[in-house]
Amino acid sequence: MSQGFLLVISGPSGCGKGTVSKALLERNSDIVFSISATTRKRRVGEEDGINYFFMDEEEFCENVEKNEFLEHAFVHNNYYGTPRDFVLKEIEKGEIVLLEIDVQGAMQVKKNYKNVVFVFLLPPTMAELKDRITKRGTETPEDIQRRFENAFEELNFVGEYDYFVVNDKVENAVLDIENIICAEKLRVKRHSDIKEKIISQGGK
Ligand code: 5GP
Repeated sequence: MSQGFLLVISGPSGCGKGTVSKALLERNSDIVFSISATTRKRRVGEEDGINYFFMDEEEFCENVEKNEFLEHAFVHNNYYGTPRDFVLKEIEKGEIVLLEIDVQGAMQVKKNYKNVVFVFLLPPTMAELKDRITKRGTETPEDIQRRFENAFEELNFVGEYDYFVVNDKVENAVLDIENIICAEKLRVKRHSDIKEKIISQGGK
């Protein structure tokens, strides 16, 4: 069986990480989503335990102290963290675990874990990005401005990632990521038993 791995997808707010991730999960049964914890307020339509584990700062800090997070970061004025146990168990089972996290979190993962594929999702242009954040209509004008300014900072990290994908059309971005996953699954290092497997199928 192929070893599981972490698939980290980062990218500025509004670049379409959520939409692309949702499509990836719908089409690929071997990918599981890591539901993060956050102190951010719930948006209309979001559900606790589905989109995020919503919690207050006190609960979040308790989890940090108990070392429950694989990584955590302060992003756009809120805390976000990846539950460690869930992720490690799924990888053990051979699953691909999708982490949709910011660049700070991704750098912590890069430092601490080996079996990770890093994908940076880019908007086609910065103007398009601003348009998308604004049209989403879920943030206040101050939040929109903060998220847009942070986007330029986040772009500084693109060189730390293994792959970039431009999200011009969702369908194409999803296909690009599926191709990346396909290549990553075929890495010889993920199939330590490949020689024995072929030989055991006979043919002498
Ligand atoms: P949003 O508030 O729009 O859902 O997410 C804001 C940012 O936080 C996005 O860049 C998203 O990828 C990031 N984020 C979501 N969950 C996590 C997490 O568990 N850890 C980190 N470091 N970032 C996260």
